[in-house]
Amino acid sequence: MQYIIEPAPLSSLAIMGGEARFPVHRIYCIGRNYAEHAKEMGADVVSRGNPVFFQKPADAIVTGSDVPYPSVTRELHHEVEMVVALAHGGRDIDPARALECVLGYGVGLDLTRRDLQAAAKAKGLPWDTAKGFDGSAPVSALRAASEIGHPSRARLCLRVNGEIRQDTDISDMIFPVADIIAELSKLFELKPGDLVFTGTPAGVGPLGRGDAFVAELEGIASLRGRII
Ligand code: MN
Repeated sequence: MQYIIEPAPLSSLAIMGGEARFPVHRIYCIGRNYAEHAKEMGADVVSRGNPVFFQKPADAIVTGSDVPYPSVTRELHHEVEMVVALAHGGRDIDPARALECVLGYGVGLDLTRRDLQAAAKAKGLPWDTAKGFDGSAPVSALRAASEIGHPSRARLCLRVNGEIRQDTDISDMIFPVADIIAELSKLFELKPGDLVFTGTPAGVGPLGRGDAFVAELEGIASLRGRII
């Protein structure tokens, strides 16, 4: 294949205990997947039939520890989330078989320009500039499901400068992982390489330059970094 310009490099994630990396195709995110977070945002708690989805570009992934403070916003917010990596995709995936698509699990931050999101919500406009900006998706190395299985319980927490900001258990998700995959596959043909951010618990808040964060999905994955 000959391209008229150099193709962009692929984003990829390390997999613990292996040499091969996970190539990122798309990044899907679910919103309002923990009731206490939906309440703190003043949003209705979603009903089981009505998930809220959005996307980030694949090259929004950050794998190094330095995360740049984004342009324009004065209110960068952290949202710690379990991240699911797919080895297989498909359309209209049966929830009972959805976990067979999962290669592994990690932890990430769905970084958000909260001020831009609030302005967009007020006008009924899309969230892209609030959610899909450069560097908006720091993600840890992945832990393979072949090693740990498919966790339905695990503590998910975020510390900023040593202080706990968000702390929950993934069993509190309104849509568990299998249901998120099944719902997404009604809307999109899922592909190997897709990542899914599974929603954030209560306690979202601001990050500033110099802040150090530690995100942890206990016993599975952790992510350390600094806003620069
Ligand atoms: Mn989120």
